[in-house]
Amino acid sequence: MDTLQQKLSKAAEIINKASYMTAFTGAGISAESGIPPFRGDDGIWNQYNPQVLELNFFMRQPEESWKAIRELFYGVFSEAKPNPAHHVLAKWTKGDLLKSLITQNIDMLHQQAGNEQAICFHGSSQYLICMNCDNRLKFKPSILETIPPLCPRCNGLLKPDFIFFGEGIPPKAYRDSFEAAQNSDVFLIIGTSGEVSPANQIPEIARHKGAQVIEINRDISHYTHRTTTLFLQGEAGTILPEIDLLLTN
Ligand code: NAD
Ligand code: ZN
Repeated sequence: MDTLQQKLSKAAEIINKASYMTAFTGAGISAESGIPPFRGDDGIWNQYNPQVLELNFFMRQPEESWKAIRELFYGVFSEAKPNPAHHVLAKWTKGDLLKSLITQNIDMLHQQAGNEQAICFHGSSQYLICMNCDNRLKFKPSILETIPPLCPRCNGLLKPDFIFFGEGIPPKAYRDSFEAAQNSDVFLIIGTSGEVSPANQIPEIARHKGAQVIEINRDISHYTHRTTTLFLQGEAGTILPEIDLLLTN
């Protein structure tokens, strides 16, 4: 069994030779920025009922959903800053080493770190959308002074522009993600449990096409024994900077 140090060197070697590298991130990459993931010991679902993010529940009881959303997401996001893992990916993008970045996160931390083009597979918290007239508004804290927030144009119910359980993936994000996975010869899976579909099909596509799949996770995930070719166990904010130090180009 290789030691972590040997695995880090192997990862650096693979990344050095990549011609099309994609990274696919989940809530775990933002855990070290103070944003709790859904699952795991410190996960949100140990405290809240996931139905607050179901579209049907939201439409029936928007006030209750919005109270949870305001606390779980907007409150926490306003304090959070990108961590070293986000910064390394942004550096690799600038250096043209990372060609695509797909995130399941809605926290905008990749964008804050400089990855403005990150594909938001589940939408983002940056906009609110009117359920009545499709008006799209940029989020600002004053919008949440009344709960549920209402559309300034038509008084319709506003919903965050990230997808709830029961909603489809934004079509462009879907297309771009599957295309990136197909083009990849190196594919990084970072901080995601692999429990959310259809997002969890993206790494499978890359693997199926023959990509080397490097996974970074604190724990074993659904991918580890099925999709991953090199598993680096640890925290993304430590592992990614360590790999970065070992790169030659
Ligand atoms: P998840 O909550 O299902 O799993 C998180 C994964 O990250 C786990 O496998 C865990 O072991 C791992 N992890 C935790 N801390 C880590 C660290 N420091 N370094 C590396 N790995 C770490 O997350 P998911 O797979 O992204 O799926 C949940 C869904 O929840 C996504 O669709 C996402 O949109 C949403 N979500 C987003 C945020 C956010 O935007 N930051 C937060 C919570 C949930
Ligand atoms: Zn409206």
